[in-house]
This record gives sequence, structure tokens and C-alpha cells, in this order.
Amino acid sequence: MLSWEHTPSLIPMQRERAWVEIDLSALAHNVQQLQMRLAAGTELMAVVKADAYGHGAVAIAQSALQAGATWLGVATIPEGIELREAGIQAPILLLGATNTAEQVQAIARWRLQPTLCTPRQALVFSETAGKLTLRQPLPVHLKLDTGMSRLGAPWQDAAAFGQLVQGLPHLHIASAYSHLATADEPDETVMRLQQRRFEAAIAQMRQAGVNPPKLHLANSAATLADSALHYDRVRVGLAMYGLYPAPHLAQGIDLRPVMQIKARVTQVKAIAPGTGVSYGYRFIADRDMTIATVAIGYADGVPRNLSNRMTGLVRGQHVPQIGAITMDQMMLDVSTIPNLQEGEVVTLLGQDGQARISADDWAETLGTISWEILCSFKHRLPRLTINQPQPARSAQQPTARPSS
Ligand SMILES: *Cc1c(COP(=O)(O)O)cnc(C)c1O
Repeated sequence: MLSWEHTPSLIPMQRERAWVEIDLSALAHNVQQLQMRLAAGTELMAVVKADAYGHGAVAIAQSALQAGATWLGVATIPEGIELREAGIQAPILLLGATNTAEQVQAIARWRLQPTLCTPRQALVFSETAGKLTLRQPLPVHLKLDTGMSRLGAPWQDAAAFGQLVQGLPHLHIASAYSHLATADEPDETVMRLQQRRFEAAIAQMRQAGVNPPKLHLANSAATLADSALHYDRVRVGLAMYGLYPAPHLAQGIDLRPVMQIKARVTQVKAIAPGTGVSYGYRFIADRDMTIATVAIGYADGVPRNLSNRMTGLVRGQHVPQIGAITMDQMMLDVSTIPNLQEGEVVTLLGQDGQARISADDWAETLGTISWEILCSFKHRLPRLTINQPQPARSAQQPTARPSS
């Protein structure tokens, strides 16, 4: 697969066709905004799974850590290895399940921290860790299912599960956690039930002599909803990328979208009334129009279901997309833009002047969630970082140099 990151000779071409622009100053701003809301002593885990929700995991992880995050969360072992290979030293929690001895070996080798959900898994981990002659026991994180019905030991079994893991050699319980199913809904009933179950499970563990040193429960929505859900650590994805999990959680915090999607105009033409546009003629001009062909399509991750239902931003104005979105290209009605030129930039997601298109707009049109929109852009599009904060001046460097 073509990967821009690993193909240096292509770098001068990065902005020739279409690209994902990643604003690292917006990311730092969002991390700081979130930290201002955290309960005292709560740490921020930057969730950078799925290539940092399509933003590019290494650049996002480095910037989030620089802005004050202390933990990273990934879904898979390769995602964790990518961060380690980039030289990132922060602790990394594997949020997804791992089950085999081979996986335990990779986890130990790359200093990743796994999630434990079942007794069988705990036995495999302990046995494999024992064969690896580790300098320290393997840190593991106990996952409790308090109502998500995805990963985790049933919360009622927390004490027995905790005792089993605590009794196994070569493992060290580093935290206990759970995940909320409905934290982004205005009705808090289920979230509060899950919170009570989590508290009850932890109390039962402690009575049984198992005392996880850290607890965590909150995703972005719960982090914004109530500091009583923060515990020792919050696991934040979406909000860090500048989107609100739900409109009612937008109060009192200013988040800025980190990702923009941009593409070039490659041709501009006049069409007469009655002219059909793109496959299937799903758009037919009803008047004289000027249309622009733009070099981005569904193979880049723009959902084809947005055909005739989205706009682009050109010179700060919304212009309608027309006809079927094709694999590599789409057309816009640019009749309102005087003298548009080949090579001009169209913003498909992001801000241009006063005009703005957000992943929430696409999600609403498509009946999905902004999380899915962010994750949909393919690696065919280069990720370009902008507004990288300057690294802090190192102590050795003189603050003022004599002029020569
Ligand atoms: C993805 C994930 C998160 C982050 O969720 P957001 O809603 O994006 O903040 C937190 N915890 C777990 C277990 C996850 O899988």
C-alpha cells in the first residue's frame, strides 16, 4: 500500500491533489481545555487508537503528551508498536482484547499494558510472562463490564476475578476500569447505574483484599458530563480531536476541530441547461452553470452517500456538490464564484473564512456519528501537520546569545 509517511520521494507532491490537514495547535488547545476541567489529581489518557481517529497516531500522541497528557490508549498491538518505534516512552494501554501467548510476548517486548477480561486470559498472561524472565511483573488492567456488554469481567464477579489475577505470579494489577454505554445521552439513567455498579465492584474487590491502585471510567462524554466520573484517569478521544460528543455537552468548553480535508480544483467548465453530471446523471443542469471538478472521491474516504447532499468551501463560500461522487473525483456547482481557477483549494471539512463544515454535519446527513466520519479517510490522503508548537528550549541552550 502506498503510504506517504514511508515514501519520502513523494513528499513534494503532498498538496497536489487532496490531503488531510492536522492542526496541532488546535490539539494542544483542546488538551489544555480538557485539563482545566479535570478533577484534581486526574490524569489524561489520550486515546489514539485507529491512527488517532484518522489524524495520524504518532504526531497526535507526541503533541498530546507535550500538551500534558500522561497516558496513551490504543486498540491493537501494532498501534502500540508504531508509537514505540517512533520513540514514544509514555505508558500505553491496550484497550482491545489480547488473548494469545504470542500477543503477550509482543506486549512485553514493546512495553504495552494489556487489558484483562477473563480468567483464561489471565492464566495465559501469567504463564507466558513467567517464561519471559521479565525484570518486573507485567502490569495489567482489569476491565469490568458494568453494562456495555462488550469487553470485561461481569461486574458482579469483580472480587473473584481480582483475587485470581492477584494470586497469579508475574502479573501486577495496575488499574481497574470500565466503559460507559450511554454517556453522550442527555438521560443519565444508564450512566449512573453503570457508575454505581463500578463503585460496588471496586468495593467488593477491596473487601476481598484486592486494591487496584488506579480507577478509570470516563470517555470524552463522561469527562465533559461530570467530574465525579473522572476518578484517577480519563480516556479521551473525540473531544481531544475537537468535536463534542453531543450538543448538550458543549457548554463551558471551547473545542477546535483538529482535522480539515482539502482538495484541489482540477478543471472548471461551463455547462448548458439539460447537461447531465457524473455517473447515472443524478444531477442535470436546469440552467447555465459553471462546474468545477475536484480531485477527491470515495476512495479517499468521502462517503458516496453524500452525493448531491454536501457542500464544499471555496473562497469562504459554501458551494453545492453535484452528481454522484466518483472514486477519485467529484463535481461542485461553482456558478457563484467568479473566475475560479484550476489549482484553487476546496475545503470539504474545516473552516474557510467565516464558513465552516464539521464532521457533525456529515454525520447528521448520513445518520451516523462524527467518530465514524473522522476514521473514514484513507491513507491515500497524506496527513499534513500544521501549527506544530515549537519544542521547549532545552536547558543547555543559552537564552540569549552574544551577537557576532
Ligand atoms: C475509544 C475508547 C475511548 C474514547 O472514547 P471517546 O468517546 O472518543 O472519548 C475510551 N475508552 C475506551 C475503552 C475506548 O474504547
